[in-house]
Amino acid sequence: MKTIFSKIIDREIPADIVAENDQVIVFRDINPKTPIHVLIVPKKEIKDIQSFAPEDFVYAQAIFAMAQQLSQTIPGAEEFRLQINSGYRAGQRVFHVHAHFLAGAELAA
Ligand code: 5GP
Repeated sequence: MKTIFSKIIDREIPADIVAENDQVIVFRDINPKTPIHVLIVPKKEIKDIQSFAPEDFVYAQAIFAMAQQLSQTIPGAEEFRLQINSGYRAGQRVFHVHAHFLAGAELAA
């Protein structure tokens, strides 16, 4: 059973896609918490960070590289928060690992 994010990756359900490369896709969160709120999602279905296999850490690098790219290309996103909820008790609700890229407002310290 595919995750909702895999269905977005495969264009089976719509999303506002803002960037994509071989490793990750980026689309706007359906329920944004900040003026700029996008999700950086590995194209491989990995449940959470706890489930990373050694070869999956390439996606950690891809997420950081994409965060840097977004900060340089989205006006107002020069400074940002990158947040990964890993596990239900950490607030994760979609079990396909992803980073929230939050920007466009002054965030609480
Ligand atoms: P989590 O709580 O797992 O860290 O974050 C899941 C995020 O995915 C939430 O912020 C939620 O608003 C977003 N989300 C859930 N379903 C969809 C969807 O179908 N489309 C989009 N664009 N975002 C979604």
